[in-house]
Amino acid sequence: MKRHDDKQGAHSEPQGHGGQASEGAGKLYVVATPIGNLGDISARALATLAQADLVAAEDTRTTGHLLAHHGIRAKLVALHEHNEMQRAAELVARLQAGKTIALVSDAGTPGISDPGALLVARAREAGITVCPIPGANAAIAALSAAGVAAPHFLFYGFLPVKQAARRSALEGLRELPYALVFYEAPHRVMECVAELAGVFGAGRELVIARELTKLFETIHCCRLEEAAAWLAADANRQRGEFVLIVSGAQPEAQQGLPAEAERVLRLLLAELPLKQAAALAAAITGARKNELYARALALREAGALPPG
Ligand code: SAM
Repeated sequence: MKRHDDKQGAHSEPQGHGGQASEGAGKLYVVATPIGNLGDISARALATLAQADLVAAEDTRTTGHLLAHHGIRAKLVALHEHNEMQRAAELVARLQAGKTIALVSDAGTPGISDPGALLVARAREAGITVCPIPGANAAIAALSAAGVAAPHFLFYGFLPVKQAARRSALEGLRELPYALVFYEAPHRVMECVAELAGVFGAGRELVIARELTKLFETIHCCRLEEAAAWLAADANRQRGEFVLIVSGAQPEAQQGLPAEAERVLRLLLAELPLKQAAALAAAITGARKNELYARALALREAGALPPG
């Protein structure tokens, strides 16, 4: 530890941390870093990084740039998904020897869809005090600006890459009454919105939060059925980093048309005028004709139907 002044706040003892801290041991600070804009880092995070004996970073070059931008010189060591197990043991030994370590990932909060949780768990098992230094997180940034009124949300992070696993993960989420927050890579975003619409139904709301805090920050709200067309309309919309927020399942009483009525209506609308399609869909499915007609109008307004 280069300098330690607990009274100044930068390294103040957290209230009520679990367990008894080991005598003479150092501390592990879990430090959030920006998700784009380099200014999005707290004064306490900068002080912690400047004062730590060692900074454990997912990518030492990325963190090196951040530190250089803020005029901080620090000793860096790599801790990423491929070496976390072995590195955690080494770092815990250093913590036990009294060193202070700051843990960072490439962007945002360590351990959130990023490495770090294993080191934290090992440190806690060894009786080391672990202190969070909170800050940026892409999911929370997206939620804060999305205008999602739901009182609860579920952070899912990345969906599985393989299609079958992905679909079954989505099916497991379909009935949950919580806003669902996903991270997605740019080369999978088109496929992802198509699958979201396929599993959750076309009518759920989607917020596409892209490149948050960066030059091309975009926050777009639409229905799932409109998302693919919006993304396809401009190749730039498929670039960068994405958070996708899908509205939760609604209690049955508040839901729109039953899925079968929606399916039949869409099939008929491809061939028939609105009124006729709604009347036939009502006769086939037993759904109410005026609801079907209102839905058909909404689909046409949303551009989901051929003009006519
Ligand atoms: N630990 C990070 C956090 O606290 O948000 C998440 C790291 S995870 C490896 C990276 C993913 O987070 C990206 O693929 C994207 O889905 C999301 N993400 C990170 N930065 C973002 C940004 N500026 N705008 C939108 N999404 C972002």
